[in-house]
Amino acid sequence: MSISKTIIICLMCIAMNAVAQSKVALSINVEKQIGSNVWQVSYQLPKFTQTLDFSHLPPHFLTNHFALKGKAVVKDDSTIQLTNLNDILMLEVSDGFDVSELRFNAPFINFSNNGAFYADYFVPHSLKVAGELITRDALSVTFNITTKIKNEQNQRTRTINNVSSLNLAQFVTLTSPSNVSNHGVSFVIEPNLPNEFKVQLEQNSAKFMNYFSQQFNSPLNRDVTFLINANSNAPYIGFLGSALSNQVMFEISGQDAVQHPSKYQRTIYLTLAHEALHLWNAHFWQPSDGTPIWLYEGSADFFAYRAMVHSGLMPQSHFEYFLQQQQKECLEGVKQTALSHLESTPSIGASYPCGRVFFEMLANALNKNGFELWLEIMNVSEGRNYSVEDVYVFIERAELSDSLKHALQDILFNNKKAHDALKSIISAQSKH
Ligand SMILES: [Zn+2]
Repeated sequence: MSISKTIIICLMCIAMNAVAQSKVALSINVEKQIGSNVWQVSYQLPKFTQTLDFSHLPPHFLTNHFALKGKAVVKDDSTIQLTNLNDILMLEVSDGFDVSELRFNAPFINFSNNGAFYADYFVPHSLKVAGELITRDALSVTFNITTKIKNEQNQRTRTINNVSSLNLAQFVTLTSPSNVSNHGVSFVIEPNLPNEFKVQLEQNSAKFMNYFSQQFNSPLNRDVTFLINANSNAPYIGFLGSALSNQVMFEISGQDAVQHPSKYQRTIYLTLAHEALHLWNAHFWQPSDGTPIWLYEGSADFFAYRAMVHSGLMPQSHFEYFLQQQQKECLEGVKQTALSHLESTPSIGASYPCGRVFFEMLANALNKNGFELWLEIMNVSEGRNYSVEDVYVFIERAELSDSLKHALQDILFNNKKAHDALKSIISAQSKH
């Protein structure tokens, strides 16, 4: 009796091992070049794959953001069908991800221990292979993420980051949406965060959304979900955000931040306000290809600070204090490079503070409310995707002295004069 039991148990062990080993391999290569908005994604699929189901993506995400290469077609809003049963699928993702921010978090996908928020979008919900349905848990997924940088001189690319993941079990999973939508805004919040904080987070995020919607006089007219994740296993304290057209994603990393998020309140809400603003400046109005990041990142910060003061999350004195700090950072950043050329330099990070500083200067010089200023710049773009040239034209047409116009334009494009022009405007404005 006991022998047969042991045998049965051992047989089960073997059977379980066999199941574990018989997972279907799916390898996904993601490649992105710094300075380009395009991610090249290629899939090594099991032989005889017919369709890939992506029904876990937000509505229309697949049709709007995945450009297929080769012989595959998008069958409906959530399915990719392979037309010849070749085992490679290639797609290009050129938007839909807030790539500028992810760029600061090499290798773009937050891949530390169990944080893989964005990678999730690339893994199909299920595959149909030779008539059989293979669900996610039966897949053994390997990611290979490569960041490349192009050398200006010889045009050759250099790999600066390369990360492979092990399996899907390491990915963060969120609880399903349970909250009732409040004015079109709903929340999916990691349950481990303190209750009091979750309530505040919902209230403050809703405040930001209302504030932006009213100030721009441009309601989004679509439902927006805030996905708030917490990763207490991360060995660092971090706050990473991103925005899609109908989603704000935000991850709080590190045990202390997850247990005591209120300690990090300012950073958390500034990031959330910044991401919420992207629903307008990246999706309601869209930057054209090649738009320098200071324009949409800096303007997101510019309005995020306003939302913080408006919502009572930051006193006016801190608003001024951080502006002064950012003026210093920006002056350092544009020492040798004009604002619109920071992208290809190590000072790329100065784009954020510089963008805010530039908008503050412009609003100040014209004595205009920031939102009014933004709407007027969007008017210059006449319904096209906006660009830095629109800002240039806006300045040209503005009621400003010629010397001030030239100084502002120098900050934008003149590598030699940007720093001094910025310095003189800051000191002139601070005297008033
Ligand atoms: Zn941003």
